[in-house]
Amino acid sequence: MWDGHHHPFSIARRAVGNGPMAPSPSSSRGEPSRKATRLDLFEYQGKQFFASYDIPVSKGEAVTTVDDAVAAAERIGQYPVVVKAQVQVGGRGKAGGIKLADNADEVREHATNILGMDIKGHVVKVLWIEVASDIAEEYYASFTLDRSAKKHLGMLSAEGGVEIEAVAAENPDAIAKIWIDPVDGLDEATAREWVKAAKLNPAAEDGAVDVLLKLYRAYTEGDADLTEINPLILKPTGEVHALDAKVTLDGNASFRHEWSEFEATQVRDEREQAAHEKGLQYVGLDGSVGIIANGAGLAMSTLDVVNQVGGSPANFLDIGGGANADVMAGALEVINNDPAVRSIFINIFGGITRGEEVANGIVEALRRVDIDAPIVIRLDGTNAEEGRAILEPHLSDKLQMQPTMLDAARTAVQLAASAS
Ligand code: GDP
Ligand code: MN
Repeated sequence: MWDGHHHPFSIARRAVGNGPMAPSPSSSRGEPSRKATRLDLFEYQGKQFFASYDIPVSKGEAVTTVDDAVAAAERIGQYPVVVKAQVQVGGRGKAGGIKLADNADEVREHATNILGMDIKGHVVKVLWIEVASDIAEEYYASFTLDRSAKKHLGMLSAEGGVEIEAVAAENPDAIAKIWIDPVDGLDEATAREWVKAAKLNPAAEDGAVDVLLKLYRAYTEGDADLTEINPLILKPTGEVHALDAKVTLDGNASFRHEWSEFEATQVRDEREQAAHEKGLQYVGLDGSVGIIANGAGLAMSTLDVVNQVGGSPANFLDIGGGANADVMAGALEVINNDPAVRSIFINIFGGITRGEEVANGIVEALRRVDIDAPIVIRLDGTNAEEGRAILEPHLSDKLQMQPTMLDAARTAVQLAASAS
């Protein structure tokens, strides 16, 4: 799967066909742009986000060292505390990444064990230390967008906790779903009926209604794609409280929020990081044809054409409008560092981007870096003639030109197939 390696598992995402599964052909088109702008929060950030909407969460501190973990527990001033691995993947509890500590020594012991732990390929670098809660019952609650229904999907279950995956798979009726028209929103009466349908303990009803209304507000006003609480707990004292937080924000809305701290901790894969440093829009996929195109629209069409002729894209790299030689060289460097790439398809339709600049960039890149995979170019639009003339003397079996997008896609896919 193309994005599962660092996205949080969520039954909510899975319910709307946006989970850690292979994307369906029909969804492959929309996924890259969505992925490119998602902000996945760590639990401690999700709780900070929740708290700003008044959702009850436990007091705690994020730390990066064992000594700081102990100091944080002492500052919290009350045991037991929970030592929680901060990684963007579910199932931390089952993996041993969540431990209760009754005193400072136990905090030290757990922090030592959990820092550096590998949880499903995610190395723990941050711990969240929070005051432990007494749990009477564990529920599950989430909101996410159901694109096909054009509505928000709310899911609520009385059987939350670490077994939610099994509940979703084996006993889906235990999850009460509602679809909310964004225009109507969620009112208190509907939330109350929903809580009753999910058969939560009556003692939790008022608290759950309150949290769900706040969670819906956080999800909509906060511009989230996903807000999930598992477990949402009922305490023996009757309060309803978020014990975990899984939040994905819609990066397209970042202009109206103060999200720079969340953006700073985004986990990118190495290819994405390298591209980001060069100011390029890059999305890693898991096929074998590297794609460079100018403009998001053309890049997505290129993905489609490569799929259509039986190939699979290794990435999605948009060099944008007005890309010059330097940008093109940088893009080729990034793609060249991806060992999965078997051929490179450069698809340029010049507008603001001029053909001779692109051509110069390719020639420059070939001089700078040893490109391993064969390159196929389709160059059209502004100054395409000039660009082709520049490339002509450099053509070889490692650098081919094709007249149309379809021809170029076929050639790139054939080359990728024969190389693997
Ligand atoms: P996840 O496994 O990654 O989803 O991590 P969670 O934060 O959901 O924690 C997993 C489980 O640890 C929860 O379902 C609880 O059963 C348990 N747990 C977490 N925090 C506390 C706490 O404050 N008190 C108690 N008693 N158990 C907790
Ligand atoms: Mn959880």
